[in-house]
Amino acid sequence: MAEKKKRQQMVERPVAERTRDFQEVPLGYTPEQAIEEAKRCLQCKNPLCVKGCPVEVKIPEFIKLLSEGKIAEAAQKIKETNGLPAICGRVCPQEEQCELKCILGVKGEPIAIGTLERFVADWERANVKAEVASSKGQVAGKKVAVIGSGPAGLTCAGDLARLGYQITIFESLHVTGGVLTYGIPEFRLPKAIVNLEVEYVKTLGVEIKTDMLIGNVYTVEELLKEYKAVFIGSGAGLPKFMGIPGENLDGVYSANEYLFRVNMMKAWKFPEYLTPVKIGKKVAVVGGGNVAMDSARVSLRLGAEEVTILYRRTQEEMPARKEEIHRAVEEGIIFKILTLPVKYHANKDGWVTEAECIQMELGEPDSSGRRRPVEIPNSAFRIPVDTVIVAIGNSPNPLIPLRTPSLKTEKWGGVIITENGATSIPSVYAGGDIVRGAATVISAMGDGKRAAKAIHALLSA
Ligand SMILES: Cc1cc2nc3c(=O)[nH]c(=O)nc-3n(C[C@H](O)[C@H](O)[C@H](O)COP(=O)(O)OP(=O)(O)OC[C@H]3O[C@@H](n4cnc5c(N)ncnc54)[C@H](O)[C@@H]3O)c2cc1C
Ligand code: SF4
Repeated sequence: MAEKKKRQQMVERPVAERTRDFQEVPLGYTPEQAIEEAKRCLQCKNPLCVKGCPVEVKIPEFIKLLSEGKIAEAAQKIKETNGLPAICGRVCPQEEQCELKCILGVKGEPIAIGTLERFVADWERANVKAEVASSKGQVAGKKVAVIGSGPAGLTCAGDLARLGYQITIFESLHVTGGVLTYGIPEFRLPKAIVNLEVEYVKTLGVEIKTDMLIGNVYTVEELLKEYKAVFIGSGAGLPKFMGIPGENLDGVYSANEYLFRVNMMKAWKFPEYLTPVKIGKKVAVVGGGNVAMDSARVSLRLGAEEVTILYRRTQEEMPARKEEIHRAVEEGIIFKILTLPVKYHANKDGWVTEAECIQMELGEPDSSGRRRPVEIPNSAFRIPVDTVIVAIGNSPNPLIPLRTPSLKTEKWGGVIITENGATSIPSVYAGGDIVRGAATVISAMGDGKRAAKAIHALLSA
């Protein structure tokens, strides 16, 4: 029997080098590696991988083109359903989606679909002149407003523009991309890549108006006077806190504020940019998701001597991507599991000096299916800190629901939608983190796609 070919491994920058700067950590495949990996694909007649992809990328088709060396054609094939491939290739949790379903994973290693997607998108960017593609004009005069330029908004806008609608995205910030720009750090998702993929969406005919805070500049009702439909993709940028004593001390950040300042005020480029973030020597990061891993690894790169993740369950239950946990461990981030902070202490100037924690153990599973952390009595202990970053999640941005009284929301703030993305207001749709709470890039894109389909059905009826 022919020997099974192994999955190609991506080269990563060595720890000692990468922790001193903000450049990307994994370097992607070489063309030879990409083609070798593509050749492992079985070209299944019933490709389960596609079922695992919320935007239904034509996975076997693009991989086949790639295996034949037709990389530009492979890029076009991906873009038929995914306008942000270089982003998805980098940050999507493929291990829980397409790669989890790949048939080769049953007895061996699944195809590295994400890394192939990244390779194809990067190759196209380097080798093919930017495409100017649009089917504008088919349904001229039908204008749709999209609120937010994150992955949900960009996908909804791109899909509708392809169908010929006139799309305007209203973005509250002065920059586009949502969390892709202001949240995820440069070493995981270079901003030049986000900007280029946003530019691609613009070539489809999408207009983006920045510095437009909907709810203040215009209300949703006002937009409906000019636009036939509205898509709300305003995300979840409201940081959650634990509500424990000391969370308002100096030196305690929300991860949102911390990463926003690092990314948007270019604190990572100090002294080229004179807007540093004050970071101490002993940093504690509370949480176990991607945001916590990013905050910890950013802190290390900004010069912290010791960075500790405090997480109330075990590493097994952490919601962060496994590969990001692995990289954080490699980089020397300390994982203090089964640990819950209950209070922060300060010096006489009001600066945080200690995190008081309690030790936990795992009990019965809770509603999420994960075992519930239970306090061990009399287990309190303190760890010295001079910076704390709280990364325990975000809630939906509240402004639009507040200024749109007829928009129905869940108690926790998420906008309520039907199966096709429709809200309680006729012609108004929503998707992404404003609906789900903090989720993933690809689920936001899937929501944008679904809403675009529904808006098209509504406006072409
Ligand atoms: C640090 C960090 C790391 C992450 N890592 C990953 C990862 O590795 N993989 C992954 O899949 N997901 C990751 N996520 C989650 C992912 O980024 C989000 O789920 C996704 O960006 C949600 O997309 P969205 O379009 O719904 O919202 P957002 O990306 O939040 O975009 C919403 C946009 O709407 C704008 N906006 C808000 N209110 C208004 C208003 N009133 N008017 C006009 N515009 C408005 C915002 O400025 C923003 O640009 C991470 C998130 C964070 C914070
Ligand atoms: S399931 Fe795996 S092997 Fe089959 S087509 Fe998809 S990527 Fe290829």
